[in-house]
Amino acid sequence: MIDFRSDTVTKPTKEMRDIMYSAPVGDDVYGDDESVNNLENFASTRFNFEAALFCSSGTQANLLGLMAHCERGDEYICGQNAHNYKFEGGGAAVLGSIQPQPIENEQNGSINFNKIAAAIKPDDSHFAKTRLLSLENTIGGKVLSLEYLAQARDFVNEHNLALHLDGARAFNASVELEVDIKQITKHFDSVSICLSKGLGAPVGSLLLGSSSLINKARRWRKVLGGGMRQAGMLAAAGQYALENNISRLKDDHANARYLAKCLSSLEGFNVDMSNTTNMVYASCDEDFNIVDIAAKLKQQGVLISPSKQLRLVTHLGITRKDIDTFINALSAHI
Ligand SMILES: *Cc1c(COP(=O)(O)O)cnc(C)c1O
Repeated sequence: MIDFRSDTVTKPTKEMRDIMYSAPVGDDVYGDDESVNNLENFASTRFNFEAALFCSSGTQANLLGLMAHCERGDEYICGQNAHNYKFEGGGAAVLGSIQPQPIENEQNGSINFNKIAAAIKPDDSHFAKTRLLSLENTIGGKVLSLEYLAQARDFVNEHNLALHLDGARAFNASVELEVDIKQITKHFDSVSICLSKGLGAPVGSLLLGSSSLINKARRWRKVLGGGMRQAGMLAAAGQYALENNISRLKDDHANARYLAKCLSSLEGFNVDMSNTTNMVYASCDEDFNIVDIAAKLKQQGVLISPSKQLRLVTHLGITRKDIDTFINALSAHI
């Protein structure tokens, strides 16, 4: 199957599976899993944080980050389109008693600092306590500039907030900007990173932060049922991903640009050419029956999420030839 639905569909390669097979393991709740310990040490060094925590998913890593920063009755500010507001089941409110304060994202994915400042609550018993600003990079495939991130750091310092990054796809941003990941993550008090998207590991995310923050997060991870035992087989896949699958993300970005170009040459597709990483957004003609088209494509081995607002994602399972196959099949159905 040629699967454009998401970069979460990537499957572990033979080399990754071999590493997983032979990974040393132990009980990670006792701190005994060598492969988990190796990954957490590797990651804290790689990202230059005091500590790292291996988590079952990006949703869990974000939730643990929020719960480690905020107490019951506290508030975090985030974008209206933020994954940790819109796509995580309201977990911060449901499980953490933390109130979200979403603010509309600008076209480029940033959040306007004046709007954030206006949303910060005064110290008064009427209000939740504003503790944290949460940003996302990349957001909807868009990269936040390094200047914006530096401004965000100055802003939170001035307003006495902590700063979290949902960096599920932060490596897509660093590869696109051609900077080391630390140039992005250095501004933040905590960062979540997905190993199971474009990096190609089957399961897992990392949460990075200070030792005291990660200790709190580790406790909440256990409370939430995320204390995994012989998780080293998964951690070893994650470490392999960090060591081998980062620079190739530039191929995904080049493929996305190629896909955007091909799609925009077809009648009836309005393609957002401003996206720069591994996602292509396009709206399609009112007359298209996209559900029907998706069903036909599926019979030909191509998977897309049918919507008038298409999102197509490139990843290590998609080649340029796959894109040609898709475009040829699609052009026959419209
Ligand atoms: C996928 C994603 C997550 C959550 O990751 P899961 O592992 O699917 O829970 C969080 N944030 C962003 C921006 C994502 O794209």
